[in-house]
Amino acid sequence: MQFRAAVLHAPHTPLAIETIEAVDLQPNDVLVRVVAAGLCHTDLEVIEGQLVYPMPIVLGHETAGVIEAVGSAVSLKRRGERVVLSWNPHCGHCFHCERDQPILCETYTANGPHAVQFDGATRLRLGGAPLRTMFYMAGFAEYAIVTDSCAIAMPADMPLDRACLIGCGVMTGVGAAINIARLGYGETVMVIGCGAVGLSAVQGARLAGATAILAVDRNRDRLALAQKVGATHVAAVPDEDALEAASRLTGGRGVDCVLESAGNAPAFRLSAEACRTGGQIVWLGKTGVNEDVAFRWGSLMGEKRIVRSSYGGARPARDFPLLARAYLDGKLHLDPYLTRHLTLEDINAGFADLKAGRGIRSVIQFAG
Ligand SMILES: [Zn+2]
Ligand SMILES: [Zn+2]
Repeated sequence: MQFRAAVLHAPHTPLAIETIEAVDLQPNDVLVRVVAAGLCHTDLEVIEGQLVYPMPIVLGHETAGVIEAVGSAVSLKRRGERVVLSWNPHCGHCFHCERDQPILCETYTANGPHAVQFDGATRLRLGGAPLRTMFYMAGFAEYAIVTDSCAIAMPADMPLDRACLIGCGVMTGVGAAINIARLGYGETVMVIGCGAVGLSAVQGARLAGATAILAVDRNRDRLALAQKVGATHVAAVPDEDALEAASRLTGGRGVDCVLESAGNAPAFRLSAEACRTGGQIVWLGKTGVNEDVAFRWGSLMGEKRIVRSSYGGARPARDFPLLARAYLDGKLHLDPYLTRHLTLEDINAGFADLKAGRGIRSVIQFAG
């Protein structure tokens, strides 16, 4: 079959809208007609050359759509089902899967850097040559082919332009608060960085029962959004001293938990300084893999637990439907994330906004 996709041929070049081909479905494949796809910072990292993948490649890993066809071995999915796609397929039986760490699945980590499907092969072609698939999904296209376990059914009344956000940013942030930090009622939390992941971390903290949530960002519009979705206090850095604010909030002790989602050295340092002794720090943001980040050693002392998390401890089949339910029940706010809807042709303008820090999420909406 043939369909349109946004193709990246080389870092620092615009995505090109091209007609690509897909080969026949393999037994475990699910073919999804893409309805909505969010633009995430990780896509931008590939465009900017910070995250290196073979090219040409189709990016996009925050995707929702409707199942169009299933492979011969897929038994529990049906044509017409509305789904959100997970970017973390896992085999279920390797060293890490058996230790309940699917994010580290050996097949996932082995094939991921090659940008191929979970079975190690490609499904996409451009002019007859292999085309790479980011995060087992290639969501910036009219159709996506994923392995069975990546397609997670949504309630019929879940709008797919909201649902797609669950697939990356929302899962990462909410999951960090609930699955990784396992926050409880009455806890004090600092969230650094209020993009889609940070706003979701704020909401995860609120859903878990945190009673004081201090949101930190440079951008006051984002802090206003953070307050809208659950932050009880805000600190606009660098004008306001976030450490001082955390100290005031906790009688000088520091917060029980810091959820860091800004991804820069000062933010990582702040996370360690603001955490109370015996508290916990979850790093969600990322900086260049070869960059060094320096800490005041004393800020790491005092039995603090420091965890780095990529996908909020996601168990997609368990968590995606719960997050959709929370949205439909009015407990998880996703509408404020939607800065604008784009056509596939406008995708480069969406990335320009993301790079400039304008808005939270641009979502590509496909016709039909
Ligand atoms: Zn993402
Ligand atoms: Zn595995």
